Amino acid sequence: MSESTAPAAVSMETIVALCKRRGFIFQSSEIYGGLNGFFDYGPLGVELKKNIRDCWWNDMVRRRDDVVGLESSIIMHPKVWEASGHVAGFTDPLVDCKASKQRYRADQLFFSPIVVDGQTVGYVSALESENTAGELQTAAEAFKRKKAIQGTLAPVAAKDMTEAREDEIALIPSPATGEPGSLTAPRSFNMMFQTNVGAMTDASSVAYLRPETAQGMFVDFKNVVDTGRVKLPFGIAQIGKSFRNEITPRNFIFRSREFEQMEMEYFIHEDADWAKCHQEWIEWCKNWLLSIGLPESHLSLYAHPKEKLAFYSRGTVDIMFSYPFGVQELWGIAARGNYDLTQHANASGKPQEIFDEATKKKFVPHVIEPAVGTDRIFLAVLCSAYAEEQVTDDKGNTETRTVLRLSPRIAPVKVAVLPLLKNKEQLTARAHALYKKLQRKYAVFYDEAGAIGRRYRRQDEIGTPWCVTIDFETIEKPGDTFTLRERDSMTQKRITEAELFALLEEQVY
Ligand code: ATP
Repeated sequence: MSESTAPAAVSMETIVALCKRRGFIFQSSEIYGGLNGFFDYGPLGVELKKNIRDCWWNDMVRRRDDVVGLESSIIMHPKVWEASGHVAGFTDPLVDCKASKQRYRADQLFFSPIVVDGQTVGYVSALESENTAGELQTAAEAFKRKKAIQGTLAPVAAKDMTEAREDEIALIPSPATGEPGSLTAPRSFNMMFQTNVGAMTDASSVAYLRPETAQGMFVDFKNVVDTGRVKLPFGIAQIGKSFRNEITPRNFIFRSREFEQMEMEYFIHEDADWAKCHQEWIEWCKNWLLSIGLPESHLSLYAHPKEKLAFYSRGTVDIMFSYPFGVQELWGIAARGNYDLTQHANASGKPQEIFDEATKKKFVPHVIEPAVGTDRIFLAVLCSAYAEEQVTDDKGNTETRTVLRLSPRIAPVKVAVLPLLKNKEQLTARAHALYKKLQRKYAVFYDEAGAIGRRYRRQDEIGTPWCVTIDFETIEKPGDTFTLRERDSMTQKRITEAELFALLEEQVY
């Protein structure tokens, strides 16, 4: 018997605590106090992340005839980032608090005038949250009470700091000190991490850690065309680390400074129906997320308004996910025209064209770019898979069961092999033999410690889809069957080794 809480109800504290407790994710350099915006993936986390990455690579590259893979270097020629526009324009608006030395992303710092009987009597500010307007309203009410101002308070009108007038900036309180006068006007802050290549540390040796993997695909476009026997339309895909010096990394691994991207550039003919192709990729990406177990109810689409697109962009649609802290971008699918290849052709002097046999003309292909962060998928997966249930056993005892309803495709452990008793050699020997055989193909776990119910619960909490118990029936009755216990339904049935392998073959791909 079980009763689930809705997955959306899970809090970030619960997810962060589970990640730490069960070894999914740790703070980077924790023994030194941590480093903001950097994370380590522990023994279970690294398996889950690898499974997400492998599923993407298999579905995106190996199981398609029109996409090939690439692994380009993290540090590229600095001219790449000049041509791509990142040196000049990969910026976020930054606001400094001169008193506290804190820095804020201007579009995440909100303010409102406090208006009483039509008069502005002061300002309040709040960092973006699930309830920014509510926090501003509470602060405005507190201000009015504290200053004993009579009259009717108007509802707050939240704006972010990029919208603040010059005369307002000095009047807006810093979130760090609560006092006005210390915030600066927003200025552009370049998010690329700089480093130096070679022994010299002068301007000539400056290089950057890549802020996206995409430029590797553009810069190697000709190499792939000339060697890969690819024909339009085709894609080049890459998985790898990217680095952004985010002003305010937050929401755990959602916005970090070092993260992993899975990106694909799909090159099409300049006359191709780009809108149709764009739409097809949006659908492909959404279906892929469903295939690794994200619930449709948590996904939505956001089309960027035309006026906010970069001049070269024809359209961008984001697949959004309902995280505990709000609906946020998970996967961006952009139609980028031929901007990137043209930029690199102009900057390098090397044409990035393809010859069209039909028209006997050369042209620069256009591109559709689905770009997603592995870590954001990881977080979405955990948030939607987490459930706490009240379960009642045969004796009528009720307890809370924590369960991660992970898809078998990505679960870090596929099967736990459990001998019923640890001091019965016949049971442990059979269990060990099965464990060793499964291990050749799958991530499996052997556990002989503690009551069987407790061992099931431990596996539930890390999302193991199946437990196999080697019991007396296995060794005493003909047929060599085991008890297969299913995580979500908690039902049990008898299964042979061949049936177990067939089940895994079908569900883990
Ligand atoms: P955002 O608006 O959230 O900063 P973005 O639009 O700048 O994201 P893109 O440049 O389109 O993001 O990057 C593609 C994908 O990379 C994003 O959809 C996201 O999944 C992931 N990503 C981007 N920045 C980060 C980050 N700081 N931490 C983790 N993942 C990120």
